Amino acid sequence: MRQIAIYGKGGIGKSTTSQNLAAALSEMGKKLMIVGCDPKADSTRLILGGHVKQTVLDTMRDKDEDDVELTDFLYTGFHNIKAVESGGPEPGVGCAGRGIVTAINLLEELGAYSADMDYVLYDVLGLGDVVCGGFAMPIREGKAKEIYIVCSGEMMSLYAANNICKGIRRYAASGKTKLGGLICNSRLVDNERALVEEFAQKLNTQMIYFIPRDNVVQHAELQRKTVIEYAPESAQAEEYRTLAKTIDSNTAFSVPTPISNDELEELLLRYVPVGG
Ligand code: ADP
Ligand code: MG
Repeated sequence: MRQIAIYGKGGIGKSTTSQNLAAALSEMGKKLMIVGCDPKADSTRLILGGHVKQTVLDTMRDKDEDDVELTDFLYTGFHNIKAVESGGPEPGVGCAGRGIVTAINLLEELGAYSADMDYVLYDVLGLGDVVCGGFAMPIREGKAKEIYIVCSGEMMSLYAANNICKGIRRYAASGKTKLGGLICNSRLVDNERALVEEFAQKLNTQMIYFIPRDNVVQHAELQRKTVIEYAPESAQAEEYRTLAKTIDSNTAFSVPTPISNDELEELLLRYVPVGG
């Protein structure tokens, strides 16, 4: 069983990418579970055709801990992909990371990590944006041994990716969890591919894939579907299939080496044209 954590700045495309990746892996015959680790609880909407009825934290609020069952919060969607949302506290109340800790512990206790599972994907916000250690839960104690960071060529997403690398160094159980690469989810920035490739090198990792920006992603999203399900013949679906094959065969894992903010800005300046 490969357990993979997907990190990246909010809005960068983590949920879209991880669900399309999951759908593409399922086409290859893989058995998967997605664990949404974002209080927004929208990490599984495209796989389930809508939002979950109950998150793990909702269940814990409504039921005694001893009465909780897997079926209270574990759903099945496209190609039998299993889907769970950790959920979050009421806005402004309590720690958003707590749901993740609770979710993972419960999934373990209730036997959700079944032996026939090929992949578990954790869709996690933060580590760079969020100070709370709860968001590091999937990579603590080597639960997820692989991490991919979704970014683009935009400064703030690279800044977040760099901070996430600092978080990985801080929280990942030493030597157990490694970075498998950056997934560039294009925002059509100048020289984006070359920029992210060099940034990856500086971080001692690779740009494992470059996903083009395509409006079909929005069309599919409106229909509550992945591109794989909504437009299986499209070029974008093929991109996600190639991403899935590339990740399935990836063997390049490393401990990332974050860079200074000055170095990051210097890198950006070399790729971005000056003077409009
Ligand atoms: P995150 O989970 O990182 O917060 P989402 O996956 O929710 O981000 O994506 C944010 C928005 O970006 C969504 O509305 C989605 O449709 C859009 N998006 C993501 N990837 C692409 C892409 N490759 N092409 C076009 N739109 C995209
Ligand atoms: Mg998301």
